[in-house]
Amino acid sequence: MKLLKDPDIDPAPLAGKRVAVLGYGNQGRAQSLNLHDSGVDVVVGLRAGSGSRIEVEAAGIEVQLLEDAVLGADIVMFLAPDEILGALYRDIAGRLKPGAALGFAHGLAIHFGFVEPRADLDVFMVAPKGPGSALRSLYQDGKGMLALWAIAQDGSGGARGLALSYGRAIGCGRAGLMESSFAEECEADLFNEQAVVWGAVPEILIAGFDTLVAAGFSPEVAYMECVGELSLIAQLIEVRGIAGMREAISNTAELGATIGGPRIVDDSVRARMAEVLSEIRAGKFAAALADEQAGGYPLLSRARERARGLPVEAARERLTNGSG
Ligand code: NAP
Ligand code: MG
Repeated sequence: MKLLKDPDIDPAPLAGKRVAVLGYGNQGRAQSLNLHDSGVDVVVGLRAGSGSRIEVEAAGIEVQLLEDAVLGADIVMFLAPDEILGALYRDIAGRLKPGAALGFAHGLAIHFGFVEPRADLDVFMVAPKGPGSALRSLYQDGKGMLALWAIAQDGSGGARGLALSYGRAIGCGRAGLMESSFAEECEADLFNEQAVVWGAVPEILIAGFDTLVAAGFSPEVAYMECVGELSLIAQLIEVRGIAGMREAISNTAELGATIGGPRIVDDSVRARMAEVLSEIRAGKFAAALADEQAGGYPLLSRARERARGLPVEAARERLTNGSG
């Protein structure tokens, strides 16, 4: 494994280049601000009527309509939702200058063929491993966020230098840039989102809360035990590792975790994780994402409504706002 950091990375390939960032959401905002503060010539591209325009202007960054922002850009960053990137590329492809570079923060659009770039273009990925808000606040603190980088097309022969100097400019070289591929980053990222941190962990918190409440415990106690301690274990694991976390808790907690953890996460869970992974790799999730967008996001709308109405949310509300 080779982790490249600022001293290993030549900033020159980005010098004098114009970067168009399409989208000003989680990643678009953070990357535009970091690029701007790193002295890069950046223009943000937004759709007509975008509510984000006023915010970009207030940050002192140039803003144009999407179709105008890409004219003359040397690098076009695709930082809008993955499921619309195919349509977005098709809208602007005819306006990209020959030999320009396309940049992505996630492998999905290229790996699963939502975007099929012209052969003359460079195509790179710098995928920060965390949310945009943290990418920005780390940069402001003089730190950075780990990122994976990869090249899918190298029309100019300079895609590698561009990708690395871009990663450096958004602050990722302070923590480290590791080479990967669009396929590896995409599949591992989707797997984590579905089967580990973002998918399975919230569901296990809800299941634990529901189990205690069903057995007659007060929702407030169930919340404190099953949900309230999550950030504590996350911090311990980050600072000390999993083994160090175990040593930092009482013998009671450690013995409980040793006996109870593998009872819950048993071989049947591992088997379903493997199933999720193979479905991701076969493109089933990418197809579902495209259908979801085409259908006006029915699953996401229902899931958001369900989550807001959960008893665990009401318990949190009472504890944090003292109501009820
Ligand atoms: P996001 O916040 O959902 O993107 C919102 C931005 O995209 C807004 O500026 C929005 O425009 C624009 N947008 C939405 N629909 C559009 C459309 N149909 N046409 C044109 N512009 C549109 O996206 P994100 O979460 O930052 O994700 C961007 C990329 O980064 C994805 O590839 C994602 O996988 C990757 N990534 C994200 C994170 C993260 O922090 N969320 C972490 C790592 C990688 P308006 O301003 O007009 O609403
Ligand atoms: Mg992701």
